[in-house]
Amino acid sequence: MGATLEALHRLQEVESQIADIQRGIDRKIRACTRQKQRIAEVEARIRSQEQQIRTDQIDADRLNLEAKTAEAEVAKYRAALNTSKNQKEYSAVLTQLNTYKADTSKVEERVLTLLTQIDEKKKQLESIREELGKEEAKLKDFDAEVQDARSRSKDRMDKLTAQRKEAAASVPPKALEMFNRVAKGNDGEAMAAVVRTHPRRQEYACEGCNMSITIEQVNSILSRDEAVLCNVCGRILYTRAAAAV
Ligand SMILES: [Zn+2]
Repeated sequence: MGATLEALHRLQEVESQIADIQRGIDRKIRACTRQKQRIAEVEARIRSQEQQIRTDQIDADRLNLEAKTAEAEVAKYRAALNTSKNQKEYSAVLTQLNTYKADTSKVEERVLTLLTQIDEKKKQLESIREELGKEEAKLKDFDAEVQDARSRSKDRMDKLTAQRKEAAASVPPKALEMFNRVAKGNDGEAMAAVVRTHPRRQEYACEGCNMSITIEQVNSILSRDEAVLCNVCGRILYTRAAAAV
């Protein structure tokens, strides 16, 4: 393996360790992101519950007012009963009074139902708020885990970053640019080994994506000191035997 591929390989060894640490931290960051979504969902439920309670309360107040007005009407009918001139008039007013009273009691029932519902919803709201508190505490723990992972890996990360800089210095600029681009798109794995897939026939595959590599590509990796990319996954190919320098 030529100097460029050797330098790339050394760079990859450092890059893989950095990517591994970063993956661990990223996993914890993702847990935080998911937890924030969960919290937003609980907050949305709280807002909706509060809105429902407000709507119910407005309905209850309106119906309550209706019932109070009706009481005054009932009083008027009662007075009319007392001043009715004959049996016929009395019966007519009584029928009106009874109908009115029946309507009123329906309204009162509705008010009671609404008030019971409001109480129930307030209880639910309280338990959703408790749930929010628990989820917020969890987020705090997850955040602390991210900070902890960062500070625990800091020394090692600093060392690796220095090593990376050193390894990158011996890679020609064009190859380095290619390496960085491929590494970015493949979670830090810019290079893939060429593996022989048949013990007797000259058949090879890219270890990164398991797709076959032509013998011409293998030959150019072996004979020329330049980065050859896998046609399928785009990783920089190297031969393992030659890498063991
Ligand atoms: Zn590949």
